[in-house]
Amino acid sequence: MRTIGLIGGMSWQSSKLYYERINGHVAERLGGVHSAQIIINSLDFAPIAKLQTEGNWKEAGAILANAAQSLERAGADVIAIGANTMHKVAAQVMASVRLPIIHIGDTLVTALRRDARSRPLLLGTRYTMEDPFMIDHLANKGIGALVPDRLDREALHAIIYDELIKGIVTDKSRDTVRAMIDRSSAREADSVIFACTEIGMLFPPTEVGVPGYDTLELHAEALVDFALA
Ligand code: GLU
Repeated sequence: MRTIGLIGGMSWQSSKLYYERINGHVAERLGGVHSAQIIINSLDFAPIAKLQTEGNWKEAGAILANAAQSLERAGADVIAIGANTMHKVAAQVMASVRLPIIHIGDTLVTALRRDARSRPLLLGTRYTMEDPFMIDHLANKGIGALVPDRLDREALHAIIYDELIKGIVTDKSRDTVRAMIDRSSAREADSVIFACTEIGMLFPPTEVGVPGYDTLELHAEALVDFALA
């Protein structure tokens, strides 16, 4: 089995889920008392969130590149950035190590193509919905993602940073996110993407009325595929 190196803490709420899912898949596939070989480099999210709001992605990327290099030195065989937003600096991180990095957007493209989805609603932080890095990643593979309107984007961004990242899950936020999914699927979305690793804390992607894709689940599975190949 190969060793997975996870850059975590973005947020630690979702790193818990990565750890659980990765180990769950390994246990299921190998049976017995098997578990994953995994090294987690869990970062303090506060300075990263501050750099995000300041638009200082280069500095944030340097923190992640440093974390990736530590994982490489520690003996990881593959690296994952455990968040969607920070894939904005994926190229900078990839350039800093020799190890392969499994891009969360690639795992998403594979799943959407498998199911012939071409018009997904992309839900995530303001950065993921408004900066083109993830939308372009999908568009380059022929997938035209929609995003919610401005007020919905602001509401979702606030739910992620003010609640989910702190481990707070409320019925009010569940209803807010469900309502924005309903509005978009009534428009033209053929599916919904949880392009933020905390959204699945609200409800599973199978419970949204349209086909749902949780990037955390897809990413965790792809990492296990690599580890066990
Ligand atoms: N985990 C989140 C994501 O998947 C948001 C936290 C972050 O900004 O990294 O985008």
